[in-house]
Amino acid sequence: MTWQPIIKSAHDWKVPPNLRDYEATRREFSWAQARLALEGLPSGRGLNIAHEAVDRHAAGPRAARVALRCIAQDGGRQEITYAQLAEQSNRFANVLRQLGVGKGERVFALTGRIPELYVAALGTLKHRCVFSPLFSAFGPEPIRTRLALGECRVLVATEPLYQRKVAGLREALPSLEHVLLVRGRGQAGDLPGTRNLGELLQEASSHYTIEPTDPEDFALLHFTSGTTGTPKGAIHVHEAVVAHHATGRLALDLHDEDVFWCTADPGWVTGTSYGIIAPLVCGVTSIVDESDFDAERWYRLLQDERVTVWYTAPTAIRMLMKAGAETARPHDLRSLRFLASVGEPLNPEAVVWGRAALGLPFHDNWWQTETGGIMIANYAAMDIRPGSMGKPLPGIEAAIVQQQADGSVTEVTEPDVQGELALKPGWPSMFRGYWGAPERYRACFANGWYLTGDLARRDADGYFWFVGRKDDVIKTSGHLIGPFEVESVLMEHPAVAEAGAIGKPDPVAMEVVKAFVSLRAGYQPSDHLRRQILAHARTRLGAVAAPKEIEFLPSLPKNRAGKIMRRLLRARELGLPEGDTSTLEASDH
Ligand code: AMP
Repeated sequence: MTWQPIIKSAHDWKVPPNLRDYEATRREFSWAQARLALEGLPSGRGLNIAHEAVDRHAAGPRAARVALRCIAQDGGRQEITYAQLAEQSNRFANVLRQLGVGKGERVFALTGRIPELYVAALGTLKHRCVFSPLFSAFGPEPIRTRLALGECRVLVATEPLYQRKVAGLREALPSLEHVLLVRGRGQAGDLPGTRNLGELLQEASSHYTIEPTDPEDFALLHFTSGTTGTPKGAIHVHEAVVAHHATGRLALDLHDEDVFWCTADPGWVTGTSYGIIAPLVCGVTSIVDESDFDAERWYRLLQDERVTVWYTAPTAIRMLMKAGAETARPHDLRSLRFLASVGEPLNPEAVVWGRAALGLPFHDNWWQTETGGIMIANYAAMDIRPGSMGKPLPGIEAAIVQQQADGSVTEVTEPDVQGELALKPGWPSMFRGYWGAPERYRACFANGWYLTGDLARRDADGYFWFVGRKDDVIKTSGHLIGPFEVESVLMEHPAVAEAGAIGKPDPVAMEVVKAFVSLRAGYQPSDHLRRQILAHARTRLGAVAAPKEIEFLPSLPKNRAGKIMRRLLRARELGLPEGDTSTLEASDH
């Protein structure tokens, strides 16, 4: 890693940070106290995310404040105030009620970043159903798997996404009863087995009273990938909103008057926790951009919307760096006050580049689907060590642990020793289980620690540094991809006998998916076959998870239990030492 000097926290803040003294805030902080910043449902009827996010503001002085400013692909802008969002999400909750959908049932969304997604998410939470967002760049296979695993009862989708990715799967999804379509202009006639969401919303009442909600009631289901097996559905509860609020204030430094832009898609946890919930709970204005990355357009958006707090990801920052600081220069970015990044390691150069090109350094922070909210961060008022993820949030105890031969873990107290990053359970947005997989959940804990699956070290001053993943999951453009899902789809191709997927380092996306494939008897490697297999994978998995590269091998290295050794494939790809190969099948030595 390139050495970069510490970036001293500037003390000429435009707005004094919410967290000014890290150590003092840590000492004084308690989750019980953080809970008091929220209102709770009237008459002590519990805690509901949607009440805290919209109804609370709609009933007070923020009612007329713009909650969401949505920028459509065609450039159209739609502003939705807190009062309007409260009313529209009430309508959605009533639609669910009229459809006979009950508490705890799963409502999925496959829409891209459009206003209806936010209305559906909040309405679902009001009706005490479980909201599960899908990433629209997924192909039909990852979508089918998630809808089936989560036993989806209601799907909200745009018409084109539904037609391309779900319509053909209905038979395979017996639990999916209601498909509510967001219809674009010029789309004629209803598709069989679907309802028109716009019409349903219009007919529904705009009044809705949230029923008593236990803070432990399930609220969100976020699918994430593991090394093996199906995706894991991490369950979050309404209590999580306490962490969304506290981290929004402390780690993202959100203040009442902020205009906040989180570039993540709500199909991933960042886009829900910080693209939907945290900014609304903090009462700020959120920018929702339907389009994908474009350097020039993004700078224009930062300028024109007068964004003050920007939360983005390393891949996007590296793409901005590639576009050059000249692209930023013509834009007036003086509204920006705080920049944060999450999802993958942020190169120290990128932190420093932010300061040169945008006038502010990026503040890296760390968390994952299971933690539901930011756990480790660089704060506005704390010196940045470029390349470090920062220090644990107040209320969060993080440690480096090492696994012993008997499976137990012990905490490493000396600085700069590598081990697994572990967290002490007990914060509000901690996942409460993996949907239908209690043993996978249990396997995440040892000796009172939650084991994150990430390798890290802590320096003598308490800053945490990311080292890598403990398992084989792939991070490409900030998206976590399970190699098993990729391999399973490759294996569907008639020519493929075995497949192994790895993350191959990439200067912009951090990793790209590369697959190694051995062929069945009767098939010969050729460019034509490679293209065919790539096309198959792309159609089934979607662009985000499909391999970018396929290499044919006569056979794949396997251990004696017959498991493909992805680690070895990766080491060979990178020309690294192969490590312990004692369990390798004899033929592969
Ligand atoms: P996800 O559950 O999809 O949000 O992915 C979480 C994983 O992304 C973490 O376990 C890390 O491996 C990685 N990650 C998230 N934030 C960071 C960061 N700031 N630095 C390095 N890796 C990160």
